[in-house]
Amino acid sequence: MQVTWLVDALCLVHDAAGNWQGRTCSLELRHGRIAALHDSPPQHAPGEVVLAARGMLCVPGLVNAHTHSPDNLIRGTAPDLPLELWSLHSSAGRERRSPREVYLAALLGCVEMLRAGATTVLDHIRFSPAMAPETMDAVAQAYRDAGMRAVIAPVMADRAVADTMPLTEDDLDGADIAAYGHRPAMPAAEQIALLEAFIRDWHGHEARLSVAPGPSAPQRCSDALLCAAGELAARHGLALHMHLLETRPQRELCLSLYGRGAVAHLNGLGLLGPRSSFAHALWLEPGDAELMAEAGAAVVHNPVSNARLGSGVFGLRRMRDVGLRLALGTDSACCNDSNNLIETMKAATLLSRQKSPMPEAWVSPGEVLAMATAGGADVLGLGAVTGRIAPGMAADLTLLRLASPAFSPLLDPVRQLVLGESGAAVDTVLVAGRAVLRHGRCTTLDEGAIWAEAQALAEKRLRDNAGVLADAAALERPIRRMYARLHRGCCA
Ligand SMILES: [Zn+2]
Repeated sequence: MQVTWLVDALCLVHDAAGNWQGRTCSLELRHGRIAALHDSPPQHAPGEVVLAARGMLCVPGLVNAHTHSPDNLIRGTAPDLPLELWSLHSSAGRERRSPREVYLAALLGCVEMLRAGATTVLDHIRFSPAMAPETMDAVAQAYRDAGMRAVIAPVMADRAVADTMPLTEDDLDGADIAAYGHRPAMPAAEQIALLEAFIRDWHGHEARLSVAPGPSAPQRCSDALLCAAGELAARHGLALHMHLLETRPQRELCLSLYGRGAVAHLNGLGLLGPRSSFAHALWLEPGDAELMAEAGAAVVHNPVSNARLGSGVFGLRRMRDVGLRLALGTDSACCNDSNNLIETMKAATLLSRQKSPMPEAWVSPGEVLAMATAGGADVLGLGAVTGRIAPGMAADLTLLRLASPAFSPLLDPVRQLVLGESGAAVDTVLVAGRAVLRHGRCTTLDEGAIWAEAQALAEKRLRDNAGVLADAAALERPIRRMYARLHRGCCA
């Protein structure tokens, strides 16, 4: 029996009322789970592993509930533009990836997330130009090799790019967008069949990997594809994940496509429910938040990405007050520009204060830490598995050195972690009891080799894909005209 002791750590324990308490104790870990918390140092048997944790802050492993690992290979390339234009510019490096490139991209994210204390991730993997089994396998293999806990949500879409925006004839003004804007999508039935095979091969693998259907967004999918994804999730007991109303153009398009808001439409399709989580949800109609809360659906808040793309400011306090289940995500490293959930916690806390100067409308560091741990686990369908330090839970734990700038002096560990830390103090990370990061370095991966290979692959891909950017450029002027039309009068 594999037994590990974490001795004398300052553990942050989250009680039923949602309050964090610091408790110095020793954790007994058996078979990858927390067996018990002991107030006095344990008597351990010969052969048992002992990790001295005195001087360490022990927190539940963080849960990054929304990112896109393929974008790790193009971080830094996207200019400062709103989502629809950002997507055009970032498409050049994303196209025609080999399985090796996709594997390396996922490993880059694993290194980054583990170093910043995350143990679990939902990876909404995009495909360009089309869903491919080798690509999905490469991502799953990366999480298997890194030792992270992951929910892999392959992105599905079947509407042409130009049809996913409310472009008018005036916006298009005769632009030739056939090469990029109207290329055909893989049929819905084919995408569902590929996902069925991926579920068969990987869902439940090593009890760490799971699969979730990931429709890109309502306006990027036919109703038939959305319903098939929902049916697949229900049949296999999976989470269902998609983007929702990230920008104003998306809201306008959904209103014209459906004759009602996107949330009402999803509800009509039976896709609001406890297994559903939606990234962003910034441009809701009145009553949408309440409707989602009543249905038990969840929202993944991505504050840094929203700010980077100028998408809008999320009403976090109001969403909490209506009872929505909430998690935190980084979104992609090309629109964030990192996968650092500690940084995201700080942004979520501070941006909640941009909605109102009244302190009762703000959220606290402790509330945000709960979103990034137990909240995130619950939203991904892993609430009984990870996200809390308690007997029976997986030993997914992050240990931070207290002898570090952010914690010296140590007066309020939660506030100092959420608002003052950066990941620099993360020393050790355990996933299912296995130390996948020790002394700030990954034990499962060769970080230097990954970074060196990624550099060469990224440079080559950007060179080889120069033509993709040229094709996409035909849509740039129409989208700029669309933005100017929809946001007339909004500019300061
Ligand atoms: Zn996203």
